[in-house]
Amino acid sequence: MKDVIIIGGGPAGLTAALYASRSGQSVLLLESENIGGQITAAPLVENFPGTPQISGMLFADQLFEQVMALGVELALEKAIKIIDQGDHKVVVTEDGRHSGRAVIIATGAKHRHLGLPRENDLIGQGISYCAVCDGAFYKNRTVAVVGGGNSAICEALFLSSICHKVFLIHRRDTFRADSSIVNRLASLDNVTFITGHVIDSLEGDPALQGILLRSVDTNDVSRLEVDALFVAIGHAPDNRAFEPHVTLDEEGYIIASEDGTTNTPGIFVAGDCRKKTVRQLTTAVGDGANAATSAWGCNMNAV
Ligand SMILES: Cc1cc2nc3c(=O)[nH]c(=O)nc-3n(C[C@H](O)[C@H](O)[C@H](O)COP(=O)(O)OP(=O)(O)OC[C@H]3O[C@@H](n4cnc5c(N)ncnc54)[C@H](O)[C@@H]3O)c2cc1C
Repeated sequence: MKDVIIIGGGPAGLTAALYASRSGQSVLLLESENIGGQITAAPLVENFPGTPQISGMLFADQLFEQVMALGVELALEKAIKIIDQGDHKVVVTEDGRHSGRAVIIATGAKHRHLGLPRENDLIGQGISYCAVCDGAFYKNRTVAVVGGGNSAICEALFLSSICHKVFLIHRRDTFRADSSIVNRLASLDNVTFITGHVIDSLEGDPALQGILLRSVDTNDVSRLEVDALFVAIGHAPDNRAFEPHVTLDEEGYIIASEDGTTNTPGIFVAGDCRKKTVRQLTTAVGDGANAATSAWGCNMNAV
């Protein structure tokens, strides 16, 4: 029996492992895909305080080494269910079962991709899923944002204050986003809306240079020259397996307090899988520290 089982080896889960281990708790870390989570796809991180520039892969490697040096046990297994036995929990994986006094869910989320050829190759070479992370790389340049929800509009607003020109591409003529922010964006001189169009293909090698747009009505194809394309078509958490022990919002994020507590004693949440407004490294590691500290308190109370 471990003191804490952490589901997910991204920045939130690794930080939870760091804090839990340093507070004397025995820790099992479960990871289903790649250690380090989403940040391993970031070519350059420039907004982690105290670290002016680091590749996402190096950030993840260093954090992983720091955690493993503390004796954290790692199992490369996907968690598929939690069984609540009151004073302890059983985490069922595709490969077995593990018991722990507390469980921290840190399963993150994934940005939805367009699914276009070469999209993955161009990540960090003009394709981005996060304006706050990468917008500064395109200062005074021409960029496009694709999407029609609040996050697409917010990304475009953010970029409009940095970039020379911002195109907003949306397949429909109406927006799901709040009309107040759509109107604010439409009022800006350096923003142009291209509605009724989808992106057909991406051009440029090794970096993005342009995109081919197809009109939904006429099927006509036109070319738009851009230095970057910010894809803002949604974020997908995957937490259904952990219901009913945790409550999900309408988008599938887990509802939990700032300290990571959920509606089930002994089950905590950290990182991008939690319902919150800012999904970044800083907030993920902050959540990890909070959840591990809450788990420690819960284990102390149970002794
Ligand atoms: C391309 C890109 C660039 C980014 N750049 C920046 C940046 O410059 N600055 C910044 O602050 N943020 C950046 N971010 C955002 C940042 O990476 C995330 O906010 C952060 O990784 C969230 O950490 P997390 O641990 O909550 O989730 P994740 O990083 O998503 O990690 C969750 C982990 O859990 C694992 N997992 C999921 N389900 C299960 C399961 N059932 N069982 C076991 N394991 C599971 C996943 O495989 C994953 O490894 C970027 C994101 C992307 C995609």
